[in-house]
Amino acid sequence: MSAQERALAPRGTSTGTAAGRAPVPVRYRAGVVGEASRVVHQAVRAEPVFQARCGRALPVELVEVEARGAPCARCVALASLNLPAADRPVVELG
Ligand SMILES: [Zn+2]
Repeated sequence: MSAQERALAPRGTSTGTAAGRAPVPVRYRAGVVGEASRVVHQAVRAEPVFQARCGRALPVELVEVEARGAPCARCVALASLNLPAADRPVVELG
């Protein structure tokens, strides 16, 4: 869907993207990544990934919906500013 089509879509209409859905807390399952990377992101489901507010795209099969754990600082910061979620994935620096 183009930006123009998105702009014309009625509010609340499911578009198959992250737009208009309530975020849920998700983190990588144990053993998928190191413990330091298992932070809790605020993300919306946009098959085949959960699209985090910070821009990370987390594959659905590798994550769990879980609020307990250290929060993703970038997700928290963006949520506190009430900014829209990132529309592009970020590059992980390792
Ligand atoms: Zn995040």
